[in-house]
Amino acid sequence: MPDTNVRIPAADIAFDIDGVVADTMEIFVRLAHERYGLTAMRKEQLSCYDLRQCLRLEKDMLDDLICLTLDDEHTMQIPPMPDAPEVLTELARSAPLRFVTARVWPESITEWLYKTLPEVPRERIMVIASGAPEIKLGILKDLHVNYFVEDRVETCRQLKRAGIQPLLFIQPWNFNEPADGFIRIENWTRLKEWVLPQGAHLG
Ligand SMILES: [Mg+2]
Repeated sequence: MPDTNVRIPAADIAFDIDGVVADTMEIFVRLAHERYGLTAMRKEQLSCYDLRQCLRLEKDMLDDLICLTLDDEHTMQIPPMPDAPEVLTELARSAPLRFVTARVWPESITEWLYKTLPEVPRERIMVIASGAPEIKLGILKDLHVNYFVEDRVETCRQLKRAGIQPLLFIQPWNFNEPADGFIRIENWTRLKEWVLPQGAHLG
């Protein structure tokens, strides 16, 4: 747990969305159960970011599941990661929330954030869709972000090389990656200790 001296100022941090704020792969697993009868699939089996490497699924099936998971209808059904809404709502009192996603289109996930964070004024929620993970670095530099919470380990490596401190949000697909000296965040209760003053009330 960090001490208060290393608390990250709210204005210095930005967040990835899928896999960090949004439990997106919960929907992927649900769709695998419902659409393809893959009822044995568990989120813990998603042990690599490139799912072709850890799931023995036909390419068409995998592509379909990914497309369905990210479409407008299913995006709105994604559950938030536990405690994420409470922490972000509190954080938004200190600074606008900045999100940088590798999604191509920002609209549906922005609507999802509005729904998930109903107490945060919409003008305090900024979403930038980079279209590809490699583009995030330049966007974060332009935003003068010093810390970024991300679940894709390769993006964390790229940011660290460029002087942005990544906080790797632990998920099954990055759990077995080498430490690389990143700050590793197990859940939003832990993340709260980095971004909110101690004793901040979460209502
Ligand atoms: Mg992500």
